Amino acid sequence: MGIRVRYAPSPTGLQHIGGVRTALFNYFFAKSRGGEFILRIEDTDRERYSENALTDLNNTFNWLGIEVDEGPDKGGEYGPYVQSERTELYREHARRLVESGNAYYCYCSQERLEKLREKQANEKQDFGYDRKCREISVSEADEHKRDSTKPVIRLKIPLEGETVFHDYLLGEIKKKNIDINPDPVLLKSDSYPTYHLANVIDDHFMNITHILRAQEWLPSCPLHIVLYNAFGWKQPQYCHLPMVMGSNGQKLSKRDGATAVREFVEKGYLKEAIINHVSLIGWSYDDSREFFTKEELEKLFTLDKLNKAPGVFDYKKLDWFNGHYIRQKSNEELKELLIPYLVKYGFVEPEKLTEMAGFIDEIVSLTRDRLKVLSDIKELTWFFFKEVDSYAPEEIIPKKLDAAKTREILEVVKKHLPDVFSKPEEKVEELFKSLAESIGVKLGDFIMPLRVTVTGSNVSPPIIGSLKLLGIEKAAARIDRVINILNDEVGNNE
Ligand code: GLU
Ligand code: ZN
Repeated sequence: MGIRVRYAPSPTGLQHIGGVRTALFNYFFAKSRGGEFILRIEDTDRERYSENALTDLNNTFNWLGIEVDEGPDKGGEYGPYVQSERTELYREHARRLVESGNAYYCYCSQERLEKLREKQANEKQDFGYDRKCREISVSEADEHKRDSTKPVIRLKIPLEGETVFHDYLLGEIKKKNIDINPDPVLLKSDSYPTYHLANVIDDHFMNITHILRAQEWLPSCPLHIVLYNAFGWKQPQYCHLPMVMGSNGQKLSKRDGATAVREFVEKGYLKEAIINHVSLIGWSYDDSREFFTKEELEKLFTLDKLNKAPGVFDYKKLDWFNGHYIRQKSNEELKELLIPYLVKYGFVEPEKLTEMAGFIDEIVSLTRDRLKVLSDIKELTWFFFKEVDSYAPEEIIPKKLDAAKTREILEVVKKHLPDVFSKPEEKVEELFKSLAESIGVKLGDFIMPLRVTVTGSNVSPPIIGSLKLLGIEKAAARIDRVINILNDEVGNNE
């Protein structure tokens, strides 16, 4: 049988970087080995179930361009791929375990369990069921049936010996049975399975060959092995993936809102950058290669290049990848990517897109080298679409100059504005150089007030291109406005 792997999210929240890493590694592993990548929805926790989470999952996969071979929408011969549609299978198998002596009905009331929990907490113990119902007699069980207490089904963890399994990355793992959580619930009193039961049954019946999942599931693994053994099933190959850390050295938390994929999309990260960076969290091809496209990873990904050490999700590195992939786009592609942002910020009305196509083209060429994320387009270009609210003299006047000298700069530029708009950029550059020289200021000090005047900010796209795109009338009006402000300044100082 070929390789079959799955991504098995619980639809309880947004997709985060960690989940995407798991999904991608499974997907790349399947692709590179000619296997199948399966999506399974583990929705047995009805209280935490959220429809939004499912939508977010689908959006994320679509955005990344991950196609599943089998799954809820795609179908497949091992379906259904949604656990809430498979509950009969779990019930039947839980009953089977009771019959074979590997599981038992537990009639303990919530009250009793709560008391037990309190007592253990007082003794500073982790909660563990005390196995009261493990050896319950038939007559006692009959009594419970009569008083219609709804039982749960618990797994009998062996009282002796140890449970052993092999992890591809971590090697042989042994756990004394006495240290495994005493007798976890498999089937809840509402007849829904717990994660453990449904997960193991599905991996078995869906013929999953390899389980690549986050290391946070490692502690549950011995329990899953006990289940495989109880059913008499063959274990899949496990590979718990290296941890994902933040650049602060802390474990990257799901609760850290900033790692939700949706937010990266909104900020304007490209899928190429996310895929590239995320694939290098705990995996490396060799010591030097950094750039990988999705298509390349579909061929190159192998488990033997996983690292044992935790991997780091680093925003700086992601920005760097993003800049790289933005620069790889053609102007036309980048334009398509930027238009939604121009619309979102109210810079361009959707009906005017055709009319403004030429202008938008110019904006794209002007800013493409300065964009880290697509949403940077807001800070870089707002001054084309809106008036500058206000100018602060201290931002206009260079440190080494005074108001009068700064005014002189703007006056001289104003005088030469027709040249600025008629000459090619290189010539304007020369012009600015000679004008700066003629009034005795450094080119940097000459450009700075002009930049703030024209763009409302001291960081902007290239100044000459910005001026030209803004148009002579608006440029002249802004220069006049600032000259007036400087007039007042000069007056005040006299
Ligand atoms: N439903 C689990 C999750 O949300 C699946 C864990 C596993 O891959 O076994 O991550
Ligand atoms: Zn009990």
